[in-house]
Amino acid sequence: MEALRRALWVLALLAATVGAQTTKTKNVVVIVIDGMRWQELFGGADSTLLTPRYGVTDTLGARRRWLRATAEDRRRIMMPFLWDTLAVRGAIWGAPGRGAMVRSTNGLKFSYPGYQEILAGFPDPRIDKNDFGPNPNATVFEWLAAKPAYRGRVAAVATWGVFRAIFRTPQSGVPVYAGYEPRLPEPRDDAGRELDAMYRTLPQFWGDNPLDALAVRAAHEVIRRQKPRVLFLGLGENDEWAHAGRYGEYLDAAQRADRAIGELWATMQTMKQYRDKTTFIIVADHGRGFGAEWTDHGRGVDGADRIWWAMIGPDTPALGVARAAEEIAQAQVAATVAWLLGEDYPRADPRAALPLKP
Ligand SMILES: [Zn+2]
Repeated sequence: MEALRRALWVLALLAATVGAQTTKTKNVVVIVIDGMRWQELFGGADSTLLTPRYGVTDTLGARRRWLRATAEDRRRIMMPFLWDTLAVRGAIWGAPGRGAMVRSTNGLKFSYPGYQEILAGFPDPRIDKNDFGPNPNATVFEWLAAKPAYRGRVAAVATWGVFRAIFRTPQSGVPVYAGYEPRLPEPRDDAGRELDAMYRTLPQFWGDNPLDALAVRAAHEVIRRQKPRVLFLGLGENDEWAHAGRYGEYLDAAQRADRAIGELWATMQTMKQYRDKTTFIIVADHGRGFGAEWTDHGRGVDGADRIWWAMIGPDTPALGVARAAEEIAQAQVAATVAWLLGEDYPRADPRAALPLKP
């Protein structure tokens, strides 16, 4: 009788354990810095690109600002949050000399296929152009948004208007504030109206791709008002400046992105819902070429499939510049978002790659 009771007790305990969340994360923020190269992320500014040919006219001033004797010092002055906070408390994969690479596996090496791979968890060869239109696939955001625990608690903010198609909003139930319409939730107070005025009045350099600073403010607005548990933030300036061949602006944009991510992290840590319960995953949608090909990416550009992956949060050990024994795929982001929240995405969609469990 005693043995039976003990057996039943063990069974009950097992039943309670199965399906229980083993991670501490309750909120996830996925941030993509569009087209940010691993070369600068790990090595800082490249002295051979700080030239008038790439829009750097005050070369002396630029060299003074960006160049240091070591890669460690160069990257730290460019992205201090990433290197002084995230790399100390979290992990960054994809550094040269640290084992296997982090790769975008879709073979196309441009934006929409990259975002499809990140957000749905697998490459889809049908998506072969940026103006493809609505995504035929659900993203992990859509999958989570359909669950009662996440209803109304999933959102995306980005500079690039195409994210409405990538998240297939409104069909998916994931609100997307991107491009110029809708750029942010309906303004309710002076701060919201002020931000709306900035969207309307600041210079519009690139069609449906406003400045990063605007999307960053919009993200703060969404966090303040909707307190999402799962948030996407898409920053587009690095890719635009690189395509324009403007290396100084590209470095500036990286520095601003780093500051924005650091401020977002600090702000969320002051909020009860997010403090010590939030993981940031920061990746790129694609890399870029080597040397003079730094401006470009795409199917024919050698090396543009190589990216990086940074992560900080209560389930990320302090690995710093992490070593990887096996290649890490961009496609693993979707399942990692779900895994951090105690959900099994590849079980729901077997096409999805498995999570990166640090
Ligand atoms: Zn891109």
